[in-house]
Amino acid sequence: MTSNSTNSWQSYYAPQSVAEAVALLQRYDGRARVIGGGTDLVVETRRGLHRPVDAMVDASRIAGLDRITEEDGYIVIGCGVTHSQIIGNELIHRYGRCLAESCSVIGGPQVRNVGTLAGNVAHALPAGDGTIGLLALGGEIEVAGIGGTHWMQLQDSFRAPGKSFIDRHREVLTRLRFRPTGTDEGSAYQRVMRPQGLCLPIISMAVRLQRRDDTIADARISMGPVGPVPYLAEPAMETLIGGAVSTEQFEKATDVALSCVSLRASKYRASHAYREAMVRTYLPDILWRAARRAAGDEASS
Ligand SMILES: Cc1cc2nc3c(=O)[nH]c(=O)nc-3n(C[C@H](O)[C@H](O)[C@H](O)COP(=O)(O)OP(=O)(O)OC[C@H]3O[C@@H](n4cnc5c(N)ncnc54)[C@H](O)[C@@H]3O)c2cc1C
Repeated sequence: MTSNSTNSWQSYYAPQSVAEAVALLQRYDGRARVIGGGTDLVVETRRGLHRPVDAMVDASRIAGLDRITEEDGYIVIGCGVTHSQIIGNELIHRYGRCLAESCSVIGGPQVRNVGTLAGNVAHALPAGDGTIGLLALGGEIEVAGIGGTHWMQLQDSFRAPGKSFIDRHREVLTRLRFRPTGTDEGSAYQRVMRPQGLCLPIISMAVRLQRRDDTIADARISMGPVGPVPYLAEPAMETLIGGAVSTEQFEKATDVALSCVSLRASKYRASHAYREAMVRTYLPDILWRAARRAAGDEASS
């Protein structure tokens, strides 16, 4: 435990186990906050965007949660795993390509070296890059609190922009997982962003696609920011399933996706028309990328 008088908290803990982390949170009874790499939280705390807390509880040093493993038919990512670890990991590259692609666009190397996927998910922004990648893969998260530990669907954890159903003062997001893509599946991610200036995404999208020869057997599409929380485009997914692997089918799904989302014009992002054009350009494109990967063309970019 250390003290830091320049910040708004007095104590900083680096527990070695989940039980220790939960016990600390219980002891502080809402006056402590979980921290990962701190790339969002420290910046926002210094800007006065969070109510002050007495202590930070660091989830990134918990023993055994700093790695990526294959367990019981899942790829499992500990809450201490950074974006850089994800980008360089062979299991993620082979079985969850869109997640590696989504983490690779986050910030710069310094941010990716300390920022965690767990922090990206717990922050619950509508277009967190790693979050959009994991959502398309069918991600699940494990949450530990005083009542025990449970797994939940990633999409059920988002409440509002920046607000999560994970109580970040009392609970720890301990692990994240997804089913590995099979030999007939592929995934892909694309973000469109201004090349310079204020860096807010214009649109981020990820897809996971399973094909049976030239038919789409299964599909998932995630998008952000297109509403208050990261969006799973279920009507567009339903349009794809059972259809042909074809540009026509991909464009039909894009029309359906666009009819379900709100692409607000914003001076920090782009006009409605431009954002719509980006979805029309890149959603069919990443569906094709995923479809080619599902056919064994792993080099497809
Ligand atoms: C310069 C810069 C550029 C950035 N660029 C991008 C970008 O391009 N794309 C993008 O998506 N993000 C970006 N970010 C935001 C940030 O880096 C990521 O969201 C990162 O993944 C946050 O992870 P972290 O471990 O640093 O989280 P922290 O900052 O430690 O925490 C973020 C939130 O999650 C909670 N939290 C963290 N870990 C846990 C846990 N295990 N259990 C429960 N709650 C937890 C915290 O209480 C806090 O509310 C950028 C940030 C900076 C400073």
